[in-house]
Amino acid sequence: MKQDCVSVNLSRIREKIVQACSRAGRDPAEVKLVGVTKTVPVERIREGIEAGITILGENYIQEARIKREAIPAPSVTWHCIGRLQTNKVNAALQCCDWIETLDRESLAKELDRKAQLSGRRIPALIQVNIGSEPSKSGVSPDKLSAFFRFVRELEGLDVRGLMALPPFFDAPELARPYFRRMRELLQALREDSPSPENLTELSMGMSGDFEVAVEEGATLVRIGTALFGSRTISAH
Ligand SMILES: *Cc1c(COP(=O)(O)O)cnc(C)c1O
Repeated sequence: MKQDCVSVNLSRIREKIVQACSRAGRDPAEVKLVGVTKTVPVERIREGIEAGITILGENYIQEARIKREAIPAPSVTWHCIGRLQTNKVNAALQCCDWIETLDRESLAKELDRKAQLSGRRIPALIQVNIGSEPSKSGVSPDKLSAFFRFVRELEGLDVRGLMALPPFFDAPELARPYFRRMRELLQALREDSPSPENLTELSMGMSGDFEVAVEEGATLVRIGTALFGSRTISAH
């Protein structure tokens, strides 16, 4: 089966983002698209970059390293969107510009230490386990405020907002209450923060539900299959 070219998919997705913004009275410039590259071959990622993708999201550090070496594109920013093991922090700092999955104190401390050693301040999002699902990582909503107070003191980390993977539903509308709750949680953190202007990002929404996420305030949507095609097909 021949897959659609990435550029056609990208313009379809952008059009849907613009429409969702207009339904919600938002400026489409507030919404950035993260192209999710897990299992996507390098040629197809290149196609995406040529089509105008500027942020890539990778779940696996080993894959991110290989791809980043194979695709030297200085204008592209790489986001770590998978669970990050503490012993992979060095590697992650070499191949990722943002960490979207800050989910525990031990990871925050290690990222802070290694970032400071290399004279960096790494942009990060706190991952929230918004559906309180045992199978998912993330800080639980009731511990978020305490966790934020801890991480905002770390010089090596620049916390920019929140990220979530809500429970999976066949009907995207069912994810809406979770997206809305994320926006409320970010708002509460802003009210509690000495520098609310730094807390602007909400990373939520994937291929199946990004339009609802945008309507509820997403600033980063993480899109894999709708952009690059089905992973099983593209991986083989
Ligand atoms: C795979 C993945 C996505 C993208 O999923 P699609 O449904 O393919 O768009 C987004 N975020 C995370 C954390 C992922 O692992």
